[in-house]
Amino acid sequence: MTQTQKLAPLPEDWQRCLAVAAHPDDLEYGAASAIARWTAQGKEVVYLLITSGEAGISSMHPDQVGPLREGEEIRSAAAVGVDTVEFIHHKDGVIEYGPVLRRDIARAIRKHRPEVILAPNYHLTWGGSSFNFADHRAAGLATLDASQDAGNPWIFPELAEEGLDPWNGVKMVCICGSPQPTHAVDVTDSFDKGVASLEEHRVYLQNLPFEVNPDAMLRSHAESVGKQFGAPLAVSFQVFTL
Ligand SMILES: [Zn+2]
Repeated sequence: MTQTQKLAPLPEDWQRCLAVAAHPDDLEYGAASAIARWTAQGKEVVYLLITSGEAGISSMHPDQVGPLREGEEIRSAAAVGVDTVEFIHHKDGVIEYGPVLRRDIARAIRKHRPEVILAPNYHLTWGGSSFNFADHRAAGLATLDASQDAGNPWIFPELAEEGLDPWNGVKMVCICGSPQPTHAVDVTDSFDKGVASLEEHRVYLQNLPFEVNPDAMLRSHAESVGKQFGAPLAVSFQVFTL
C-alpha cells in the first residue's frame, strides 16, 4: 500500500476473536486499543501468549520473570475487557516456526472458534530499517498457517482425539504492526484503555534501557495512522481474508 492509498475500515460484523502474541506486551503497542473498542461492543476476545516473555528482562532470571510477566499480561488484558489469557510456554527468544507451534495455535483456534484472529507481524521489519525479531516472525507465520490447519481434519488429527473438532469459521487474520497495513480501526474512544493496558507492564517497562511514556508513544502512532484513515486516533492492521 502506498502512502496515498487510504486504509479501509476493518469489518466488525463478527463476535469472537483470538489475539495471538509472541510475548506479554506485544498486543499493547496499539492492538489493545482496538480490542478495548471491540469488547465494549460486546465482542469476545481471548489472548493466546506463545511465550511468557521470560527472557525479556536481562537483569532478572527467567524463572522469576516468566510468572511476573504473565501477571502483567493478565492485568493488561483486564484493562481492555479481556478475561481469558492462555500461555502455551514456548521458549522466549527461540520460538521455532514448525508443526509443533502450528498445532498448538490450531488447538486454541479449534477450542475458541474465532471468526477473527490477530497475529504478530511476520515481516522482516516494522517499516523502514527497524528490524523485527525472530520470535514475532515465526509466531506470525505460524498463526497464519494455523488459521488454515484448524479447519482440516487430517492435519493434526490428534486434536480431534482431544475432543476439538475442526473449525473453518475464521474469516480474517489481521496482522498487528505490519509495515503493509490495509485496514484500520478508529480507537478515539477506546485509546485511554489501550494506554492503561500498556501501563500494566510496569516491571518490564521499568527495566527497558530507555524511557517509555505509554500515552505519548501510542498517541503519536495512533495520530499518524488516524491521518491515513480519517479519524483522530486509529490502529492499522494488514488483513488477510479467508
Ligand atoms: Zn514481542
